[in-house]
Amino acid sequence: LPITVRTLSETIGMKVGELILKLKNLTNSLFTINSGVEFEVAEMIAIEKKIELVAKKQVTAESSLEATITERKASANQLPRPPIVTIMGHVDHGKTSLLDRIRQQYGLSSDVVSTEAGGITQVLRAWRVEKGGKSTTFLDTPGHEAFTKMRARGANVTDIAVIVVSASDGVMPQTEEAIAHARAADVDIIVAINKVDLPDANIDKTRRQLYQLNLLPDTMGGDVPFVECSAKTGKGIDELLDSVAVLAELAELTADPTQAGSGTCLEAYLEGDRGVIATLLVQNGTLSKGDVVLCGATFGRVRAMYDDLGRPIEEAGPSTPVKFIGLDEVPDADDPFYVVDNIATAREIAGKRRERRSETDRFKFQAVNLDKLKEQNAKIKITELKVILKAEARGSVEAIKKELEKLVHEEVRVRVLHAAIGAISESDITLALTSPENTMIVGFNVTADDAALKLAEQRGISLREYQIIYNLVDDVKAALEGRLKPVE
Ligand code: GDP
Repeated sequence: LPITVRTLSETIGMKVGELILKLKNLTNSLFTINSGVEFEVAEMIAIEKKIELVAKKQVTAESSLEATITERKASANQLPRPPIVTIMGHVDHGKTSLLDRIRQQYGLSSDVVSTEAGGITQVLRAWRVEKGGKSTTFLDTPGHEAFTKMRARGANVTDIAVIVVSASDGVMPQTEEAIAHARAADVDIIVAINKVDLPDANIDKTRRQLYQLNLLPDTMGGDVPFVECSAKTGKGIDELLDSVAVLAELAELTADPTQAGSGTCLEAYLEGDRGVIATLLVQNGTLSKGDVVLCGATFGRVRAMYDDLGRPIEEAGPSTPVKFIGLDEVPDADDPFYVVDNIATAREIAGKRRERRSETDRFKFQAVNLDKLKEQNAKIKITELKVILKAEARGSVEAIKKELEKLVHEEVRVRVLHAAIGAISESDITLALTSPENTMIVGFNVTADDAALKLAEQRGISLREYQIIYNLVDDVKAALEGRLKPVE
């Protein structure tokens, strides 16, 4: 395992600059603070400082689990699996109605919905439908917030996004946002033009608005299926499901049901004496009754498991949502879960994670950041709001910078500390750390990389990501005026 220049400098107490110079002389290559240094090289330098470096190869339960998971994912027994679909769109355009209609028409026979399964009759946050022998899993995710949050954690639970647009309203701001999110997550898109039964439905206009956003059907050289439908009359629902099936087939979605189960927690709560009830979406492998599950910082044995109709089941394969009882505590929605070999490993890893999370909470609590500024307005007097801006293209960097510099406030001025192309990185966070109380990090059409997210979380720095320039500028303006709401 190579040691980084940063760690080496801290370990042996040598200034980074001096160390980089030494490394260059020794190896004839250029190093940065984040470069890895081969152990032998590090050792040579350490010896000069009369420090002996010891290579510690740490095999923790967690790192060995990670290795197992990588192996599982790369397994050879890949078989087709049902697609996982999320419906997104502007409020009131008919997301809920479409989901209800789809479930009514194609949901697994609901006459067996039973209360015998211990009274769990509540609809899961995910459920399956079947048409023509093909099954599809729909996620009941309210809005796209949850979608983004999951993605920020690297968990992409959606294969296909259905973007619902009401034909009587046409494209609205959240329609555009939903499209941006789906694109950012790199999922397939289907457009559902809904409410075509309404007298004021204007399908042509709605289509044109969507074309302008670069959503093009195959007749126009694109690859986005357009379906005209009505959640009210049921028109087009068939076609919608057929489009899902076609896209899923093209995408060749696979998973290996012979592996141990893994996936994502969709929701979890505590219910009286029954304990923790969690809805999990199995994404790979098979989850079986009796399995030991590690889910985020919680663990437990699958004591009882139910399908999306509340029927008790023994096992669940890829793309299957299940409700189960057995975790020791309530995990976070979005936490990934894995079946692990034994309860001791699960307990150990969950314990470590709990420690880490509580540390993070402490950090969060201590860190002063812009979001807490409102409460502290009286105490700290801010005269400058620093902005670190990252965007996907030169054009947007320039355009946003220009907009930001136009903002005026009598007491506080905006200073664009750094504006560049690319993802929000660790170095951006470090930059913000120099004056966290008045620095804002904003990304336009870019996300933060893992290292950045981790550091930001530890140090209580908030990152904001935007797909719409107006929203970005508006938030910076709000921050100037001290009325910016904290990020979730
Ligand atoms: P959501 O906010 O996107 O989940 O939208 P809802 O499903 O709650 O629908 C908003 C309103 O539009 C409700 O009053 C629905 O009854 C109505 N609605 C949804 N789909 C249709 C449709 O296809 N035709 C008509 N006429 N009304 C619809």
